[in-house]
Amino acid sequence: MEQTYSFQTKLLHNRHKYDEGTGAVSVPVQHASTFHQTSFDQFGDYDYSRSGNPTRQALEEAIAELEGGTRGFAFSSGMAAISTAFLLLSQGDHVLITEDVYGGTYRMITTVLNRFGIEHTFVDMTNLHEVASNIKENTKLIYIETPSNPLLKVTDIQGVVKLAKAHHCLTFVDNTFLTPALQRPLDLGVDVVLHSATKFLSGHSDVLAGLAVTKDEELGKRLYQLQNSFGAVLGAHDSWLVLRGLKTLHVRLQQSSRTAQLLAEFLQEHELVEKVYYPGLSDHPGHVVHSYQSSGSGAVLSFELRNEEMVRQFVEQMKIPVFAVSLGAVESILSYPAKMSHAAMPREERMKRGITDGLLRFSVGLESFEDLIQDFQQALEKAKATIHLSRINGL
Ligand SMILES: *Cc1c(COP(=O)(O)O)cnc(C)c1O
Repeated sequence: MEQTYSFQTKLLHNRHKYDEGTGAVSVPVQHASTFHQTSFDQFGDYDYSRSGNPTRQALEEAIAELEGGTRGFAFSSGMAAISTAFLLLSQGDHVLITEDVYGGTYRMITTVLNRFGIEHTFVDMTNLHEVASNIKENTKLIYIETPSNPLLKVTDIQGVVKLAKAHHCLTFVDNTFLTPALQRPLDLGVDVVLHSATKFLSGHSDVLAGLAVTKDEELGKRLYQLQNSFGAVLGAHDSWLVLRGLKTLHVRLQQSSRTAQLLAEFLQEHELVEKVYYPGLSDHPGHVVHSYQSSGSGAVLSFELRNEEMVRQFVEQMKIPVFAVSLGAVESILSYPAKMSHAAMPREERMKRGITDGLLRFSVGLESFEDLIQDFQQALEKAKATIHLSRINGL
């Protein structure tokens, strides 16, 4: 009988632990674009690298196993994975989608798919009544992101799956924020799990990649056909980079999530912080649902300072994190949604969604908790002092 290992062990001990041919303990990078055939009616396992590449396949098998699926697919970016999965839809179909969906997905839905006759409705996915009342005759897909970006709102995955199944429509979950280390949507009945592997899965801010996983074999076949048709596959070397990053996924997330929890608690107590958004806080509105469907709260949190000026001072004083878009890396990343990820959204729309001018998002890396706290403390103090001074001087 095959032994079942824990997630953490499976990251290392899987069928690609070593290469059958050479014993090499790292998956070989196969750069070939085409593969020799011994005769015109004899086909090997591979013919052309868009259709199948051994290095990419190793990654695809790895993610399928980790998500508890049957097939995995690797793409050139998270958006390539998401856009290809949308091609499962047809003209006249309708999509229900979470209103705080990732910006690139928002753009795909509202400016590309609409031209192909695919309709959409944005809903507050945390409100199951709102979801149910917006399902239409032609709704074929419900698209979930949980926790969402940047407000870490939590959707009840099983609740949505139940509604979807009753109406014969598919469910997709963008699992980028938690990864299968902390949340396994296929186990909860979801049809397609999507990832920007650019973030936690690879983890080092050095590769763009996307993944999709299915459990149902028929759906897997359809998605494979789309991957091969659309052709936005992940290159061999980038596949290898993601495979290497995956090996430390568990230990990275464990460390970063622990720090995130402590940091969220620290910020919640700080007089200059107005609000903290983190599903690991007991007063987070999605805390109970989250702890039921996930095994950890992840390494991303958001918090609100008084206003834009305070944010500016604070950001200028912070020394440790890089100030950038993206998340899920070994180094902490600080970002300002109002002017970065959500800059394209009209201010009014942004405010309505709670993405205020005082909101910052923090993706916790592997630095020591003490160093991070110290950095936050000094930056907040200095920001307070400058604001105070400018007030005295009547500036
Ligand atoms: C980054 C991100 C994406 C897009 O992935 P890319 O690799 O940048 O194309 C999609 N969803 C979420 C939640 C993300 O954070």
